[in-house]
Amino acid sequence: MSKLSQDKVRIVEVGPRDGLQNEPKLLPAAIKIELIDRLSTTGLQTIEATSFVSAKWVPQMGDNAEVLRGIRRVPGISYPVLTPNLKGFEAALAAGAEEVAVFGAASDAFSMKNVNCSASAAIERFKPVLEAAKQHGVRVRGYVSTVVGCPYEGAVAPKAVVQVVKALHDMGCYEISLGDTIGVGTPGSMRKMLDEVTRAVPAQQLAVHCHDTYGQALSNILTSLEYGIRVVDASVSGLGGCPYARGASGNAATEDVVYMLHGIGIKTGVDLDKLIGVGRYICTELGRPSESKVNRAWKGTAPKQT
Ligand SMILES: [Zn+2]
Repeated sequence: MSKLSQDKVRIVEVGPRDGLQNEPKLLPAAIKIELIDRLSTTGLQTIEATSFVSAKWVPQMGDNAEVLRGIRRVPGISYPVLTPNLKGFEAALAAGAEEVAVFGAASDAFSMKNVNCSASAAIERFKPVLEAAKQHGVRVRGYVSTVVGCPYEGAVAPKAVVQVVKALHDMGCYEISLGDTIGVGTPGSMRKMLDEVTRAVPAQQLAVHCHDTYGQALSNILTSLEYGIRVVDASVSGLGGCPYARGASGNAATEDVVYMLHGIGIKTGVDLDKLIGVGRYICTELGRPSESKVNRAWKGTAPKQT
């Protein structure tokens, strides 16, 4: 682990989108804007702001343009938004998006259930988005969900993950986030997947996105660091869940990820104390406790260790 200590990790804060999208309580746009503005003061460099999907499917994100227009953009921070199709991309562009994200699934069964076509056919549909993004100088991030397990087909073969990751990479995504959407992965299944994926696409262009349903998110993130991955998605106070898998927890809590990374000497640029405050703020607004153990235990400074 000593080799890791000189390294830096970039955290992609997905709470305002992936998190709030899966919270039962709908928040007004003003609170979402306040959340993003507060996150912008913590040292985070990437904050996923919202999603330009149809409000019919995701009512929580119906105020996407209002949120994206309303936030105070800090120079040096990227505020990507999710765009499932060209229509969403155009709306995002009109609202001032400078970075977008597209998403596919590694599992055919998951893809069929959600977008009614196979995993590879679903990816094809993003070509017009990637082309339009290139024309407008907009960066595109790719998400691949169900990289180790699927609620419908169980274990997902690493080869299936490679196919989708490679397709997004070849299409021009600058980074691809590997999502354990339902949080069933362990360091064992993560390794099997990463062994194959890092052979197909360099680790420098990969990120991990681990949900904590079975309490493995931090271990899975640590495993990905061993493969040279230095971008980690996380959600402040573990906001969210997964609409497709009953009982699935949210993402790894950003506070817990930052605490672990700082503990092994990896820089994140994030002020943990400020982040804790933001987690407490949004949990109060949602009327629910923080999923972050670090947040619940925090007394103002990191505890002394030997
Ligand atoms: Zn997620």
